[in-house]
Amino acid sequence: MNVQMERAMPDGFVFEKAQNVMHGAYSGLEFLIVPLIGENQFRIQLHVDVEGNRGKDGLLEFLGMLKKRHSFVQHSGYNGMNLISVHVASNEQEDKENLTILVSELSSKCQEFGIHNCCSYCRNVKPLRAAAVDGVPALICDDCRVKLVSGESVTQAKRENVPLGIIGAILGVLLGSALWILIGQLGFIAGIAGFAIVFCGMKGYDLLGKRLSKVGIVVCVLLSILMILGAEVASLGFVIYKELSEYGTLTMADAFSLIPELMKESEVAAGVAKDLLVGYALAIWASYASIKSAWKQVGEDNQPKDHTVVPF
Ligand SMILES: [Zn+2]
Repeated sequence: MNVQMERAMPDGFVFEKAQNVMHGAYSGLEFLIVPLIGENQFRIQLHVDVEGNRGKDGLLEFLGMLKKRHSFVQHSGYNGMNLISVHVASNEQEDKENLTILVSELSSKCQEFGIHNCCSYCRNVKPLRAAAVDGVPALICDDCRVKLVSGESVTQAKRENVPLGIIGAILGVLLGSALWILIGQLGFIAGIAGFAIVFCGMKGYDLLGKRLSKVGIVVCVLLSILMILGAEVASLGFVIYKELSEYGTLTMADAFSLIPELMKESEVAAGVAKDLLVGYALAIWASYASIKSAWKQVGEDNQPKDHTVVPF
């Protein structure tokens, strides 16, 4: 891409050389245009309050048609939050004209559908200014600028849902326990499923609870410790049922009620102890790294980071 940025820009736009971004307003709407040198393209970036807006469908339909209507449009899309991006092939001579056409069409469509610029971070419709945040071009409001510089968290972190997370963890450890029981029935040392219980528990919490927090990790570990014991008892119950049901009518409840009596047999007790020992050891050995990294990750997520904001 051998383009003089100053000659490719729509009128009234400014090129920030250090940040490699053009910015400017068209009919009151702020645009950022990033030259993608390697791809020989420009990326028009429009931060607007599309979510929850009545004009959303209309605007998305318009975006979908852009590529068909203009041969120089390589891609147009919406990130599902507040960012519309249109990739434009660079034709050198025609860049200014093409970019101006798109900027003008986008701003008149936004006007038609009642869509406005919004902050890239808090998504509020407020007075905004273009800036590079950690080198990434954005539109930010004053509140977010202050927070970013001071290291306060501005992104709306996924909120954790503890009750749902616990349900997810329970379902997860149950699934892991099923594996334990199955392995036990096949005659292997069920303990090798110890890791599966912990893993499925954490996965379940993460999936239903949206986010694995420290509380979540502790819940999962406690549930796993309990479930490993539970799985072993259940596994033993199944074995008894299978063995004894051949000799007569025995219900599952009968089989389970025999467990305390059987545990007095040193051979059975030793078998159970071995399963549990292997189970807990493997669960700890295999889960230690993933629990540790999950724990560390949670800590980092909550740690505010300083950002560099360069307003244009
Ligand atoms: Zn903001």
